[in-house]
Amino acid sequence: MTLSTAGPTRPRSVTDAFLAGLVARVPGSAGTTWNLTEVYTGDTLVELPQSAPADVERAFATARAAQRKWAATPLKRRLAVFKRAHRIFVGNARAVADLIQVESGKNRRMAIEETCDPAMVMSHYLKRAARLLRPVRRGGPVPLLTSSTEIRQPKGVVGIIAPWNFPFATGISDAIPALMAGNAVVLKPDNKTALSPLYGVRMLEEAGLPEGLFQVVCGEGPDVGPTLIDHADYVMFTGSTATGKVIGERAGRNLVGCCLELGGKNPMIVLDDADPAEAAQGAVFGAFGNTGQICMHIERIYLPESRYDEFKKAFVAKAEALDVRAAYDFGPEMGSLVSVDHMRRVKSHVDDAVAKGATVLCGGKPRPDLGPAFFEPTILEGVTKDMLCGVTETFGPVVALHRYRTVDEAVALANDTDYGLNASVWSRDLDAAHAVAARIESGNVNINDSLATAFAAKGTPSGGVKSSGVGARHGDQGLLKYTDVQNLAVLKKPVMGPRPGQDYGKYVESMLSGLKLMRRFRIR
Ligand code: NAD
Repeated sequence: MTLSTAGPTRPRSVTDAFLAGLVARVPGSAGTTWNLTEVYTGDTLVELPQSAPADVERAFATARAAQRKWAATPLKRRLAVFKRAHRIFVGNARAVADLIQVESGKNRRMAIEETCDPAMVMSHYLKRAARLLRPVRRGGPVPLLTSSTEIRQPKGVVGIIAPWNFPFATGISDAIPALMAGNAVVLKPDNKTALSPLYGVRMLEEAGLPEGLFQVVCGEGPDVGPTLIDHADYVMFTGSTATGKVIGERAGRNLVGCCLELGGKNPMIVLDDADPAEAAQGAVFGAFGNTGQICMHIERIYLPESRYDEFKKAFVAKAEALDVRAAYDFGPEMGSLVSVDHMRRVKSHVDDAVAKGATVLCGGKPRPDLGPAFFEPTILEGVTKDMLCGVTETFGPVVALHRYRTVDEAVALANDTDYGLNASVWSRDLDAAHAVAARIESGNVNINDSLATAFAAKGTPSGGVKSSGVGARHGDQGLLKYTDVQNLAVLKKPVMGPRPGQDYGKYVESMLSGLKLMRRFRIR
């Protein structure tokens, strides 16, 4: 069905021939397709092939063959591919943003920012990978006569399952350290947003990534997911907590490792000395950036009684002034939700809250006049834990304001959730903000920012705690997780155990005094 509404003219780069070329690499032996649509209009963009389990198996076989050669390629040559890729990705940022926008409906400012993510990840690991992957001599149990070396081996073929909210970033950025470490990748993007990751793979191949090494399979999660997990040597999943539990369970049964980057219900605490205008501006991006579809975005704001009205006034004024519309230029400050289904889900959270007594301070409604999946930036107060949006992730442009009397109460309210992905603390006093941050149960805490500083800091691992995930991306562990450690131990002389004919008691005595000496001279 086509829900066509008059929308902006589609970007010139997004031609039928270009899209057909992109999806041609997706295997679909059963001949079934998925109608991939332009979010702003509901018009068909392309029929996306759907991969049958046999297609997924073949993708793994091809990737596995390519991986053996890739792992044997010197690291310097592997990294040279990403040096070239960095230039190609930056050079094509506008074309990538076109694809991200048509398939996700986000505004152009967010789309162009998303295009930067793989380039930033490449830059970071181009600096770190050689150091992280080189063998490290650790020393053996007996000094001089033994050695042990930590050697990093690629896992093999990494299965990546990505969501629709940052399809290019989650599809490509998480693959980069895996590939640098010598792995192959089989990626399953979300059907709605397969175009930008497909273009990312094409650009990597243009940079010299061997063909076959990076496979893309498409389909609904429950159709493609099980075969993908069953053939993967490691699973990198980004998506909802509910799906993450299914993925983690299956990976666990197969005894393969996985990294699960899941949902959040992220709090922002404004301390009483914070600048209300700055905090309100930060909250606008935190709550409405990417139309509220950022895993780290803010859904709960805790304000001191004394500053509540001041902040509320500034925040509501800013939200009401936002330029929300469909356009392929840099004008709009907020775009569409990803789909009509998702818009209905967001609406159901707001309707449920209102029915149970919450007040809408601004927004609260779909905007079919702007496009099929538009929803207004919405600020609520009076949200309680018996409401859907009081406990579960809404994942839309909906945020609730709450009052607190003491900082202890604010911290307790912020932590009163199953999630632990991101939090934001605002204060002019950095020591006070640090003290609050230290008490928040969250994998990321941003001081005087809502989310971007932590996510853009590629040198520090970023992941969730509690129900927000297992493991992390970025930082050293963002690459090392795609490797197995081989402990290569060498015994140069048979000195372990008693010498032939030695009395065992004497041997034990010398062994124990050896232990004391090693401790005294700090020998491992
Ligand atoms: P989702 O869990 O519905 O889907 C994510 C991916 O998993 C999609 O590709 C989907 O097709 C696939 N999938 C679904 N069921 C599956 C199954 N049974 N087996 C295998 N694969 C399956 O999530 P979504 O709605 O696409 O994305 C939004 C969610 O992602 C939000 O909860 C958001 O917070 C989260 N997210 C988290 C991060 C992070 O880094 N923590 C980043 C982005 C998004």
